[in-house]
Order: sequence, then C-alpha cells, then structure tokens
Amino acid sequence: MYEGAVQDLIDELGRLPGIGPKSAQRIAFHILQVDPADARRLTAAITKVKDTVRFCARCWNVSEQEECRICRDPRRDASVLCVVGEPRDVVAIERTREYRGRYHVLGGAISPIDGIGPDDLHVEELIGRLDGEPVSEIILALNPNIEGEATSSYLSRLLSPLGIRVTRLASGLPVGGDLDYADEVTLGRAFSGRRDVD
Ligand code: ZN
Repeated sequence: MYEGAVQDLIDELGRLPGIGPKSAQRIAFHILQVDPADARRLTAAITKVKDTVRFCARCWNVSEQEECRICRDPRRDASVLCVVGEPRDVVAIERTREYRGRYHVLGGAISPIDGIGPDDLHVEELIGRLDGEPVSEIILALNPNIEGEATSSYLSRLLSPLGIRVTRLASGLPVGGDLDYADEVTLGRAFSGRRDVD
C-alpha cells in the first residue's frame, strides 16, 4: 500500500480490464516519472473520449455523431447486417475490406457465469431494426469462444423463423480467442466462406 494519490492511481488502473495489481503498480510509477505534459495528454484524451464519443443510435458502434460513419455511408449495403460483440470487432472486420454491409454491435456476449443474458445485450434493438431496414442476410460474427458460441446459437434460434438468411463465419479462426486476434487474411477468408446456419 502506498500513500494517498499514488495508491488511488494504482486502484483506478487496477480496475481496467486485463490490468492486474502488478501492472497497475508498474503503470502508476511510469506515470509518476513521465513528463507532466505527457501525463496531461493522457488525461485530456480520456476526458475527450468521454465528452465526445457515444454509441451509434442505430448499430451501437462508437460514434461522434448520432449515427456512426458506417451507418451514415450511403454506399454501404443496407441489406446485409453483421452482428458482432464489441466495437473493436467492427474495426477488425473493416480491416479485411471483405465486407460492405452494415453492423450491429451487441455490447458483449451471453455468459451465464458472469450473469449476462440476452436482455443485457442490444438484441431487442437488433430485432427492432429488421422492421425498418431492408435486411435480407444477417451474418453472425461473434468471438470463436464459449460465450460467442452461446450467443450465436441463441441468435440463430431467434432469427431463423423470421425468414431472413442467417449465416456464420467459416471455421478456421483461432478457437478460444477474440475475433480481432485473427489476422486480416484469416478473418477475410472466414467472411467470404460464411455458411448458412441450419
Ligand atoms: Zn452505426
């Protein structure tokens, strides 16, 4: 335990995902040593992101406006929706340049162990979009792990009776990890090789 401000910083850093107590301590001491201007740039970036960035009213991707850049782009194919877990999955798929449709970001994945069910995700909003948008195919692009699988099965069961084509990425992605662990070529291939959910 350190005194006051240093311990506060370690505690805050330790609440970030993937940062354990040792890393929190290391980052805190790094911040103590850096130039004050560098530290101020970091706090300014955090403040700015919290003040200006929000979630797209249509697809829940990060956005600086009411709707995100992809939803506002008239060149994107509105008949295909790609369902992903997190905004960073959108970035990973965009990098492949294989996809020209729109997205829907669930904001996580079903995980009974963490108490996360469909009601905690943007599932209802997804169903709502099917009324107003000319969607003819939904691509399920969830992480290749247990939570992603559970989410995909749930959504297939929910969407299949609606008469919309539901597809999933081809296998070949690194199992157990996140979508964005895959390199662009592998992810692009999984995309173009997508198959119908039965
Ligand atoms: Zn959007």
